Amino acid sequence: MKASIITIGDEILIGQVLDTNSQWVANKLHVLGVELVETVSISDTKEAIVNGLDHAMSIADLIIVTGGLGPTKDDVTKYTLVDYFNDELILYPEVLEDIKERFKKRGIHFSDLNKSQAMLPKKATILPNKLGTAAGMWFEEQGKIIISLPGVPFEMKGLIDAEVLPRLKQIGGFPSQAYQTYVLYGVGESNAAEKLEVFENNLPDFIKLAYLPSPGRLRLRLTGTYQDKLLLENAIQQLGKELMIIFKEESIIEGDLSYVDFIQQYLTTHHQTLALAESCTGGKMASDITEKSGVSKFFLGGVVAYNALLKQNILGVSKNTIDTHTVVSKEVAKEMVLGIQKITGADYAIATTGNAGPTTDNTNEEVGIVFIAIATQNQVIVERFNFGQPREKVIEQAKNKAFEMLSK
Ligand code: ATP
Ligand code: MG
Repeated sequence: MKASIITIGDEILIGQVLDTNSQWVANKLHVLGVELVETVSISDTKEAIVNGLDHAMSIADLIIVTGGLGPTKDDVTKYTLVDYFNDELILYPEVLEDIKERFKKRGIHFSDLNKSQAMLPKKATILPNKLGTAAGMWFEEQGKIIISLPGVPFEMKGLIDAEVLPRLKQIGGFPSQAYQTYVLYGVGESNAAEKLEVFENNLPDFIKLAYLPSPGRLRLRLTGTYQDKLLLENAIQQLGKELMIIFKEESIIEGDLSYVDFIQQYLTTHHQTLALAESCTGGKMASDITEKSGVSKFFLGGVVAYNALLKQNILGVSKNTIDTHTVVSKEVAKEMVLGIQKITGADYAIATTGNAGPTTDNTNEEVGIVFIAIATQNQVIVERFNFGQPREKVIEQAKNKAFEMLSK
């Protein structure tokens, strides 16, 4: 089965909203064993939708459309689909009751516009939307399946999980998919590729190896598609063992663990704690950590001490150190990390201070220089890095590097 994803919305085309729906659906299809042949984003116009459907119908058996199902004039997907499949809109009383009921519960006024949400195509199977008012629609036309879902990501996801996937699984016949990811630290892509030459040449044709580099780490992902699930899983497991042997001198972790996952796993199992003193990373490290659930077991918190006075008054960095060495210095990073460790009593602490750029003042260091300090129970390590430019890259790399240093 080949699939196409069409996301509808002018907001995507003008760059106001990032099309995350395609990515999320693509992954679901991949896990199911459906081959995705295209993703397209198109405008909220009848013409664009018809063109998109024409093309998708010519290359795919399953078409998933998101967006444009709202009750307002700018949402035309439903009307276009009805015309496209020579269908008509009829009132679905149970959908109407359901919407009314939910409006009543939440004390929201029910308008005629909302009533139009219960007018749905006669030929379609209606997929009830428990998280919103725009129902999903499942058409079977010309031997193809066409599914229209709301654009709001959490509504779309709810419908895919509750309604779409179970139906697709029932249709069945998909080959099995399996994948396993390994994370390598401190090995560049080309270096890894060199070491993997023989391994790659000997891969069976139903298994692929992908390189997914990001600052400071490289993910290697083995993916396979095969009818025999057991054979596939065994093959991937065996190849994974080989990878672990090839990179046994470097640091390699099995599984798709991010630094933060790794730190969480380590500190939680060792009953140890972490605190942060962030300057140039501006709270991004704390934000990455607190995105995960369960981090209160090890994460005590952090201070964003951007300004020199805060570094002094909160973290206890001495004025003399700042005057002598400037805020972007090894000495200040060290005092910051010791300061936060003292305040919180954390077993581990991280501090960052740097020139993210594009301009710099009051420091001896050039733009792109960041000092990262790590304090453990018995030592402090400070390293100086040059992350270049632009600003976002400096901040991102400083954050990753700091997590990486702690992971070691
Ligand atoms: P509603 O009933 O809320 O109007 P809808 O089906 O009409 O839903 P849209 O109007 O297309 O959906 O989108 C609603 C919001 O959902 C958009 O403003 C946007 O923030 C988000 N959204 C839509 N499409 C996508 C997408 N492909 N990826 C990420 N977010 C999206
Ligand atoms: Mg809308």
